[in-house]
Amino acid sequence: MAQILDGKVVAQKVLAEVKAGVSALKSGSGVTPTLAVVLAGDFPPSKIYIANKKRMAAEVGIASRDFLYPGGLSQPELLALLGRLNADPGVHGILLQLPLPGGCNEDEAIAAIAPEKDVDGFHPMNLGHLLAGAPTVLPCTPAGIMEILDHYGVELKGAEAVVVGRSRIVGKPLAQLLLARHATVTMCHTRTRDLAAHTRRAEILCVAAGRPQVITGDMVREGAVVVDVGMNRLESGKLVGDVEFETAAKRARAITPVPGGVGPMTVAMLMKNTLQVARRQLGTPSPQPSPPRWERGKS
Ligand code: NAP
Repeated sequence: MAQILDGKVVAQKVLAEVKAGVSALKSGSGVTPTLAVVLAGDFPPSKIYIANKKRMAAEVGIASRDFLYPGGLSQPELLALLGRLNADPGVHGILLQLPLPGGCNEDEAIAAIAPEKDVDGFHPMNLGHLLAGAPTVLPCTPAGIMEILDHYGVELKGAEAVVVGRSRIVGKPLAQLLLARHATVTMCHTRTRDLAAHTRRAEILCVAAGRPQVITGDMVREGAVVVDVGMNRLESGKLVGDVEFETAAKRARAITPVPGGVGPMTVAMLMKNTLQVARRQLGTPSPQPSPPRWERGKS
């Protein structure tokens, strides 16, 4: 049976580091890192996500300020709000909960967030920095996956890594991070001709397809490390990943469970990003540079 890559354990470690960092920042500068939480519309899952994020922020000492618009708001109103938050020195990070209600343009809204306050790492400038291998704010889920792999000592250099899914928030940035660590990366998507042929080659298989249990055990290479990003609620109410855990765990060397794998890392990394952007704005950069650890040309 595969080793369980426990995201709750790694998230606790990250959160403890963030809590210590927030405390040091407060005592050094007298400033509390502050996250503006923007929620437009009343999509029920978004309310749960926001509640989790605010609870975690409180636990590590980050202040949050709510900008909640359950009735939605127009695109010009949203852009104006983001402009005010960008200009407010008391706000260090801006969390714009997605999806936005109909009528709002997500790309335009994300691009309207000041890159230095973009705690989700979705701003085109921050994604561009990631592509260029420059220090940046990383998207939380891919950054959290890298923390898990590092925590469990998974060797990335030269490894065959396959990423299923090419979304802007998970698949694409994850592929870049793996590439930056010298994995040989293949990306799969809905037009991939023979998905199983690719996944069976993977020493590291990361799945972010949003399709319940689309990866079955026979598609997993013997001894692979499997990272399941998917979070799918079945009609029965059960939460499952994109990987069929029982069969995949028989072939994998290590695997993230759902729940309790990647999920807890996403919120932990959001807290880490909030501390990181607050430090930058206050002129007290992180003791260690944030990933990506781009080692171009080095062994
Ligand atoms: P998304 O935007 O819907 O993207 C899904 C990607 O998977 C697309 O690139 C799509 O290909 C590809 N895909 C879909 N079905 C496929 C199939 N049968 N074979 C191969 N590729 C397939 O999803 P996302 O936002 O990246 O999220 C993916 C999953 O991760 C979801 O279950 C989501 O809930 C979960 N998630 C979890 C966390 C967490 O914290 N644990 C965070 C974010 C997301 P095309 O591009 O060709 O359409």
